[in-house]
Amino acid sequence: MSTILAIDGTRGGWLPVKPAYGSPCNGCGYCCAAEPCAIALEHIPGHPAEGPCLALEFEGGRFVCGMIRRPGHYMGLPNDWADGPIGGMIANALGAGRGCDAEI
Ligand code: SF4
Ligand code: SF4
Repeated sequence: MSTILAIDGTRGGWLPVKPAYGSPCNGCGYCCAAEPCAIALEHIPGHPAEGPCLALEFEGGRFVCGMIRRPGHYMGLPNDWADGPIGGMIANALGAGRGCDAEI
């Protein structure tokens, strides 16, 4: 698993095309590369207000939210024992699994 700082951190890999609003999320990464969400701004220490999210990760041909997968890493916690429950709460707060919420 690698963390990317920009949407071109895929080393030339093919990216999924953003689906229509409300369609199942395909991990295209557009939303999180365009701007950090409130979770990132509030819980990742020192996160810039603009630019791609520092927790955006690329794996298996799609982007995934690092704050769901391993929040302790980004929050600066001393260990990962709480990653499961915190990640679950973040996934719920983000509406993960409820479809694409990026309107363009
Ligand atoms: S929510 Fe939409 S824009 Fe964001 S990664 Fe999923 S499909 Fe792409
Ligand atoms: S915290 Fe997760 S959902 Fe929010 S912008 Fe970063 S990668 Fe995207």
